[in-house]
Amino acid sequence: MALRLYNTLTRRKDDFSPLDPERVRLYVCGPTVYDRAHIGNARPVIVFDVLFRLLRHLYGADHVVYARNITDIDDKIIDRAAERGITIRELTEGTARGFAEDVDALGCLRPTVEPRATDHIPEMIAVVERLVAGGHAYAPTEDGGAGHVLFAVGSMPDYGRLSNRTLDEMVAGARVEVAPYKRADGDFVLWKPSALHEPGWDSPWGRGRPGWHLECSAMSWKHLGETFDIHGGGLDLIFPHHENELAQSCCAFHRPVMAQVWMHNGFLQVEGQKMSKSLGNFVTIRDLLGTESFGGRRWPGEVLRLAMLRTHYRQPIDWTAKALEESERTLDRWYAAAEGVAPGEPAQGFLDELSDDLNTPGAIATLHGLMGESNTRGAGIASARLLGLLQAAPSDWAARREAEAGVDAAAVETLIAERLAARREKRWADSDRIRGELAALGVVLKDNKDGTTSWDVGRKGTA
Ligand code: AMP
Ligand code: ZN
Repeated sequence: MALRLYNTLTRRKDDFSPLDPERVRLYVCGPTVYDRAHIGNARPVIVFDVLFRLLRHLYGADHVVYARNITDIDDKIIDRAAERGITIRELTEGTARGFAEDVDALGCLRPTVEPRATDHIPEMIAVVERLVAGGHAYAPTEDGGAGHVLFAVGSMPDYGRLSNRTLDEMVAGARVEVAPYKRADGDFVLWKPSALHEPGWDSPWGRGRPGWHLECSAMSWKHLGETFDIHGGGLDLIFPHHENELAQSCCAFHRPVMAQVWMHNGFLQVEGQKMSKSLGNFVTIRDLLGTESFGGRRWPGEVLRLAMLRTHYRQPIDWTAKALEESERTLDRWYAAAEGVAPGEPAQGFLDELSDDLNTPGAIATLHGLMGESNTRGAGIASARLLGLLQAAPSDWAARREAEAGVDAAAVETLIAERLAARREKRWADSDRIRGELAALGVVLKDNKDGTTSWDVGRKGTA
């Protein structure tokens, strides 16, 4: 089945056809690096990692370019660096490194390019100059507007077509700042002046810094071109961020579209509310991986990843410890089934599900079937890997789970060797006693036909 993707711009699922199949181009808005990312921020990273993997499978790994930017300049960053008494570079480099470690642990491939906003100031200035020259932007000189450059939304007849709202609705919905130097309330900032203590760059409009939306038009232009295939991010970015990116790029480059397809993931929620820094209902990726913070324990990255993919990317996810436990049991089963099996090719049924607008719940249901039958497990492993799952060696997974369960693997191996010796010498009472001792530790034994014994850590109180 051909790849079909739901497009926010057309409001329907369309067949995907890249502008250039030799160079399929994907742009996703990345993190603002002022603080640790929470698990809600991980949702677009994981969702678009699955899309990246699928595109690489369909078009070839060397024919897909994925750009995910790093926003390393904004007011939150300026404030946080000042609070901590460090430079903006120190703050953003440290946070960006932490983000990379977190998403590595979630099994995400690194994007092809990870451009930083502050490395693209000349491109941003060039975009603004084009907009001014084309009559789409203006630099007010009065009413306190000096040093600003604003995008004139009235200059673009179909402004608002991505979010499908009227100008009045947009102004009301976004609580747009009303300023006397704006020609229209909906006009948004492309460039703004910096006070002396604030970071700034020289520009034709004086020393200043970019507005929020400008960087993505500049970076996607530089790394992907004037138009490209797919643009992604969370639902909250549709307006104003993506609407304004689209306006900037289409008007600067005189193109009818910025990206052909716009994809947006739904929110990860806690008790029905969007997880967010401002609501304080968040848990960081780092905490879930490394401290006993959620459901009273820490979680392998792969469990977090599977829990995320069990829900279709456009639906909300309620983040619960129960869903994580279920995902962990699924991985325990799949890894046990994968033991000694060589990966094959992804199964067609699985690819069909995934090609239907990234239907990961359908793909996972197919995986259960593939991993359940011995003759389809090789295809199951290859399919799971397309989701970024089952990446570890089954023995490593088992070892990690034992360590978590507090079982000392060396001690278990010693007891198993003693039991094998007892069995060879037909000391059945000793053999049974040792099996009992291991069972008390939660260790389950399996005697193999070749005379060896394998073991696993049973889950207490679970099926
Ligand atoms: P931010 O750092 O807030 O700009 O967010 C970075 C990315 O995470 C954006 O694509 C957001 O749409 C996305 N995001 C933020 N919070 C959530 C959430 N609770 N669920 C899903 N995506 C989110
Ligand atoms: Zn963006």
